[in-house]
Amino acid sequence: MTLDPQTLIVVLAIAGVLQFIGLLGQHLNNKTENGPGWWAAGTAFTAVGYIFSPFHGSATPFQLFATFANNLFVVIGAILIYIGVQRFFGRRENRVRLLLVLGFSTLFLIYFTYVYDDINARRITLSTFILFFSFLIAHALLHGVPVEYKSAARFVAIFFIANGFSFILRAAVPLFHLTENGLPNEIAYKNFTALVILMLSSLWTFGLINLVSQHLIIQSHQSNAYIENILNYANAPIIVWNPQFLVTRFNHAFENLTGRSEAEMLGQSLEVLFPPSQAATSMNLIRETLKGMRWESVEIIIQHLDGSLRNVLWNSATLLAPDGNSTLATIAHGQDITARMQAESALRESEEKYRTLFRDSTEAHLIIVDGVIVDCNRATELLVQADRSWVIGKAPHELSPSTQPDGKSSLESAREKIELAIQIGSLRFEWIHQRADGVDFFADVAITSITLEGKPALFITWSDISARKLAEEALRASQLFLSDLIDNSGSVIYVKNLAGAYELVNKQWEITTYISREKALGHTDIELFPGETGQKFRQADLAVMENDVTREFEEIFPHADGPQYFLSVKFPLRDKNQLVRGLCGISHDITEMKLLQDKLKQQAITDSLTDVSNRRHFIELAQLELKRANRRGHPLAISLIDIDLFKSINDTYGHAGGDQALILLTRIFKKNIREIDVFARFGGDEFALLMPETNQQQAYEVLERVSRQLNETPLNLPGAPVTLSLSAGISALTNPQDTLDTLLEHADHALYTAKNNGRGLIETWQ
Ligand code: GH3
Ligand code: MG
Repeated sequence: MTLDPQTLIVVLAIAGVLQFIGLLGQHLNNKTENGPGWWAAGTAFTAVGYIFSPFHGSATPFQLFATFANNLFVVIGAILIYIGVQRFFGRRENRVRLLLVLGFSTLFLIYFTYVYDDINARRITLSTFILFFSFLIAHALLHGVPVEYKSAARFVAIFFIANGFSFILRAAVPLFHLTENGLPNEIAYKNFTALVILMLSSLWTFGLINLVSQHLIIQSHQSNAYIENILNYANAPIIVWNPQFLVTRFNHAFENLTGRSEAEMLGQSLEVLFPPSQAATSMNLIRETLKGMRWESVEIIIQHLDGSLRNVLWNSATLLAPDGNSTLATIAHGQDITARMQAESALRESEEKYRTLFRDSTEAHLIIVDGVIVDCNRATELLVQADRSWVIGKAPHELSPSTQPDGKSSLESAREKIELAIQIGSLRFEWIHQRADGVDFFADVAITSITLEGKPALFITWSDISARKLAEEALRASQLFLSDLIDNSGSVIYVKNLAGAYELVNKQWEITTYISREKALGHTDIELFPGETGQKFRQADLAVMENDVTREFEEIFPHADGPQYFLSVKFPLRDKNQLVRGLCGISHDITEMKLLQDKLKQQAITDSLTDVSNRRHFIELAQLELKRANRRGHPLAISLIDIDLFKSINDTYGHAGGDQALILLTRIFKKNIREIDVFARFGGDEFALLMPETNQQQAYEVLERVSRQLNETPLNLPGAPVTLSLSAGISALTNPQDTLDTLLEHADHALYTAKNNGRGLIETWQ
């Protein structure tokens, strides 16, 4: 059998067209895929190229064109196949490079056809190009191909590589001028080439179809897997039943919903899924789906194996057989809204609870949105003495007098407060509000910024504190009154704590001590008054606090100009547990009384004219001295003294002259007696002298010395100086049984003797 190259080429062209049809069919079946369309186009170009092949030649312009078109179409075909392979694997060809290659190839072919018509040059150019693209396509098939396609891609790649090698031969033949020797001849060479191309291109086209099929299998497998996964693991319960209402699919979510397993449910009637009381109704609904009705959010209650009920919204779809009449299955998927319904009912309940709390709260509340009161409760109605219709729709300043106590307008002030509350979250303040009857009241207002139905709002709690305000006012007034009272008291008033530190001192305290309040508070008496004074105060304080009693003390406060005397009443202060926490003292200045008392005392014991002791005082002192002298066995002497002829001085010089004589005598005595002696005026011109530790003789000597000095001291009275003389009687303690009266009697006796014996004498009792 001889092979006719022309016939082979026609066969090749026909085979190319058939391949194109095959690939196109594949592509049209599976339009979504990239690649096969390009391959089909590439194969079509190649086939068209071969169609031009029998018309090769250089004799006529058509022959030249056929030569050129044959080569160019094969080149374009190869490029398109390469693009198809790249696209099939999801890659992008480098368009610029391909266009450059196409451009250069075209230029070469034009040159070797029209300018330099050389079949060998054309063959080499074309073969090199095909060779290059065959390897390029093989490379694209072998590298970076997903593992699922590896075997099919390798199969196709092998034929492209083989194609590449066949073109190496094809390019090599012209180089060795084999045709010149006829070994092998041109015909054989052409036949060989056409056969190889026919074989290889058929095989790779087969491979390409195979690759696409492989791809389709993978895809359908994947989408099946997707569906399976979606079905099994979807959150929604999905069920499929057949026209006999027997379950054919039952996913995991449905297992969870019902507590039944898929294995148990497959082949079971749907009826078991519903609560018995509703089974009939539910089955009627299901029967509707057989007629092709679709459910959209139909609520059917499903019963769990444990008896609990689930609210489920259902969507369904009925799958019909290709005849469009008979039903294959119904698929339904549900949405378990049990939790949502429970949450909704819980929310409703809690909303109701809060509404009740708000409405019935004993605290007055308001809700403000956009500056306007939108809700209020019963307590608010009581507060403003109007019903809610009066309150709602008003702005807060409309429930207030036009100005606040600080003089600011309520409108402006309320706006500031609200802004601040929004800024810092909450705010509490006092405010003057107004009731519906126009009466103002003091309110305590607390604003809390909240979100209500997604909008910013203010929750306000307010109360009438007018009574509290009044009580506070009264308390402040009474405190002021009390502190005024304390401060303006003439007494020294102070409070000290347990440690003795001052907590309060009044103005009089500051005046008395010359210490300011600031310096005193927090300090103790010991710190403020050094020495004995502070110590004494502290002792008195301790006596009060330790014994928890009220006591009176006479206290002395020293001053440079003499002591100040106080009568202090101190009483303990208790804390709330009734424990002594300090004391309060009220000290009254008794200095004047004290001095008066001293004076009176002094007056009671002294003779006002001579300022020496009077008779009573002398007797008192003499009794003591007598006792002491007797106890110790010591001597003691007493003398009674009387001025001689005193009456005549009075008569001559008047009473005042007599007084001068009495004073002179006193002076002389005082000069001559000891500290321990007691000199007293008994009355009239009679005096007494008590001399402890003195015997009769010694007493006599004293009297004699005084008498002498008196005689020698003239009394300067108007007219001539007068010389005074005295008579004295002395008695001394000799017998322990002697009383004062006895001694005085004895002295008086001796005095009498002295007068009788002529006056100017000192007599002793024998
Ligand atoms: P004789 O020597 O006897 O004592 O004579 P006499 O004058 O001193 O008499 P007598 O002692 O009885 O006098 C006391 C007089 O002193 C009587 C009275 O008028 C006078 N007398 C009494 N008290 C005072 C006084 O306080 N002042 C003055 N000037 N005279 C007084
Ligand atoms: Mg006398």
